[in-house]
Amino acid sequence: MKTKLGLLYGGKSAEHKVSLQTALAVIKALDLEKFDIHPIYITEEGTWVNGPKLEASAESVKELAFSESTGVSAAIGSSLFPAVKDEEGQQGLDVIFPLLHGPNGEDGTVQGMLELLNLPYVGNGVLASSAGMDKVIMKNIFAQAGLPQVKYTWLIRSEWEKNKSAAYKRVEAELGYPCFVKPANLGSSVGISKCTTLEELELAFEEAFQFDRKIIIEEGVIAREIEIGVLGNDEPQCSVAGEIIPKKDFYDYKAKYEDGNTAMVIPAEITDEEYKTLSEMSEKAFKALDCSGLVRADFFLTNEGKVYINEVNTMPGFTPFSMFPLLWKHTGVEYPQLIERLVALAQERYQEKQ
Ligand code: ATP
Ligand code: MG
Ligand code: MG
Ligand code: MG
Repeated sequence: MKTKLGLLYGGKSAEHKVSLQTALAVIKALDLEKFDIHPIYITEEGTWVNGPKLEASAESVKELAFSESTGVSAAIGSSLFPAVKDEEGQQGLDVIFPLLHGPNGEDGTVQGMLELLNLPYVGNGVLASSAGMDKVIMKNIFAQAGLPQVKYTWLIRSEWEKNKSAAYKRVEAELGYPCFVKPANLGSSVGISKCTTLEELELAFEEAFQFDRKIIIEEGVIAREIEIGVLGNDEPQCSVAGEIIPKKDFYDYKAKYEDGNTAMVIPAEITDEEYKTLSEMSEKAFKALDCSGLVRADFFLTNEGKVYINEVNTMPGFTPFSMFPLLWKHTGVEYPQLIERLVALAQERYQEKQ
């Protein structure tokens, strides 16, 4: 029996394009002897359409995968998820893989819908997804778990609009320069700026508030960037560590998806002791947020040997050339196996809840 796998991709999010790249890669990697693929595309406007039928070869799939014209707009939960149960009581889809990043995908909203539809799905549940999406909430939870972090503060748009100069003064007093301004709920470095002057801070606030009503401001550190993949449910496992070496000032959106010349070093050249610290922190972060399936934990490692957790990503970049799959490849789990492992973890978690 083939596993009927619903692939959810696209999405009403600044990371829409990233999701398309991921979906293409996953479709290509899936063993069609084992899986029946049901693509479900969410347009940038947020309309849900059926993807193409995927009986064809992987190459034609590539052409078809994102053609909206073949799609049928339909109400969520009816024809899109070929009935949770059909007339004979057969489940329409076995597992959903939400290949979505950012708001409306990685933030618990889609996960909540899938819970209501009683469908197993890959990755983090509602709580971990939403808590992980909001950098302020995530950092507050990490603080409570005793994980070391850089100093941070946050602000909502209406507060800022009331008295902008007071907002800047507060940031200067609390954090100083350099600092990083980020939309609270995003990823892929969208809307993030590094600031070294008041002028830059002003511009950074304007920019970040275009993406979110809430922003986070962090003390900027000079540090190496180390990442670890975590895989599992109740007993999560850590991958080897990887290092990101941005050619630019920081690892911004362009460096991630357009330049392609950011170096990744896997395994990272760190000491055994540093790896031990980072992997323990990864596991602690995973458990603090009550994660399941996967996360990629991102760290800063300073020259003085200080370690800070920057964030976890509950649906990390997932093309075969993204950090998370590469970390697992170097740990001994190839991309197609990784997908199968995630599907199995989704089913295991669903069973446990029954
Ligand atoms: P993604 O989810 O794709 O990893 P993101 O949008 O969640 O990205 P962050 O990872 O928080 O954003 O930040 C993006 C990059 O900005 C980091 O990889 C790092 O290069 C730089 N950066 C962010 N915060 C800091 C900081 N406090 N000090 C120094 N550099 C930082
Ligand atoms: Mg992130
Ligand atoms: Mg992200
Ligand atoms: Mg990051």
